[in-house]
Amino acid sequence: MNVDIAIVGAGPAGLCLARSLADTGLSLLVIEQQSQDALQEPPFDGREIALTPRSVRILRDLGIWQRLGPADISPLRCARVLNGNMEHGLHVTPHRRDDTELGFLVPNDRIRRAAYASVEHEPRITLACGTSVESVVLNDSIARLHLSNGSEVNAKLVIAADSRFSRLRRDAGIAADMHDFGKTMLVCRMALEKPHGDEALEWFGHAQTLALLPLLNGEASAVVTLPPEDMRRLMDMDEAGFNAEIGRRFDHRFGAMRLTSTRHTYPLVGVYARRFVAERFALIGDAAVGMHPVTAHGFNLGLRSVEALASLIKQAAESGRDIASPDLLRRYQRMHRHATWPLYAATMAIVKMYTNDRPIARRARSVLLQASQTLSPVRYAIARTLAAGGHGVFSPSRHRG
Ligand SMILES: Cc1cc2nc3c(=O)[nH]c(=O)nc-3n(C[C@H](O)[C@H](O)[C@H](O)COP(=O)(O)OP(=O)(O)OC[C@H]3O[C@@H](n4cnc5c(N)ncnc54)[C@H](O)[C@@H]3O)c2cc1C
Repeated sequence: MNVDIAIVGAGPAGLCLARSLADTGLSLLVIEQQSQDALQEPPFDGREIALTPRSVRILRDLGIWQRLGPADISPLRCARVLNGNMEHGLHVTPHRRDDTELGFLVPNDRIRRAAYASVEHEPRITLACGTSVESVVLNDSIARLHLSNGSEVNAKLVIAADSRFSRLRRDAGIAADMHDFGKTMLVCRMALEKPHGDEALEWFGHAQTLALLPLLNGEASAVVTLPPEDMRRLMDMDEAGFNAEIGRRFDHRFGAMRLTSTRHTYPLVGVYARRFVAERFALIGDAAVGMHPVTAHGFNLGLRSVEALASLIKQAAESGRDIASPDLLRRYQRMHRHATWPLYAATMAIVKMYTNDRPIARRARSVLLQASQTLSPVRYAIARTLAAGGHGVFSPSRHRG
């Protein structure tokens, strides 16, 4: 089979890119190892994705946001960062007075479902589901993919959106810096006895990091980060024991907490590819930059990669130029590195500091948070950096001084 562009991975990034290029006249093939049923009706995976206003705009332009129902979108009005036993911590509200939200929370499975629906009937997009890419061969005239179903695909450009553990990245000879934090993150939905006030909470406790993301109807997403052994004990608990344990870990701030969903765990691994491009090849989404999962930037940055690469490809296609020229790919790499590196580096530094339980680190972050409450510029700087290390809910806009 010959196509203009082969996109590997129909996760949110791969599907959004396919949607962005659907009207260019280019032929697109999206290859995904999961079944079509799993793409059409993805199961709940525990992730509630905090989207910045910019991401909402991109999704709206792609016609994906409109496919979400009102029950899928929870507003995020403000956020609070606590350290240890601190009572109030750092409070972050929208920067512009007329903004009523910092951002919005949407379940990952709803984003995936809406993104799939947006490409499902596009005439220029072919979906090859239930088959994975086994290998890729790149040269200056063509890229060739070998699929697990035995078929071969020739493409002018291959775009890898195959997760932070990308196989294609390795096959293309691109090295990546990978940091395993040695911790596990649990995410699940819980009903709260006391109201959350649409406020997100990021709490750096001793030997644990907690977050609470406000959802509709008095529910919230509880996010607990622990060493793997402690996490196994927590996951082994029956529902009643789990509810009591999470309530205790949140210091009963929200009264009784009751599990309302399945529980999901994720390893904490950050990945940054050394290059985003090779000959006739580009990385997008987590395959390019896999943010520390405790931050809410992963998909937001994934959308930035989609926006940057799609605009360059569209310009080239419109003017009849090569859609995979070395110059185009280099420009994409520059744009995406510029958009992601400062945030990635700050995230790594902050996460290391905020998950360090030595007394000196605890005191240092306490001092930082206190200073940030009173000194407006300091507060702004810290809120911005914490936007990378916390749940990213601070990044959409600056907070009031
Ligand atoms: C707990 C948690 C909370 C998060 N919260 C937020 C948040 O609040 N805000 C935010 O912006 N981001 C958040 N993220 C990050 C966000 O979920 C990811 O950035 C996003 O899902 C990445 O999308 P992707 O399409 O790049 O990769 P993925 O979602 O990993 O999709 C990759 C796809 O490629 C397919 N694939 C892999 N290999 C092959 C192959 N060889 N052949 C064919 N197909 C293949 C896979 O089956 C999969 O469908 C969170 C992540 C976690 C874990």
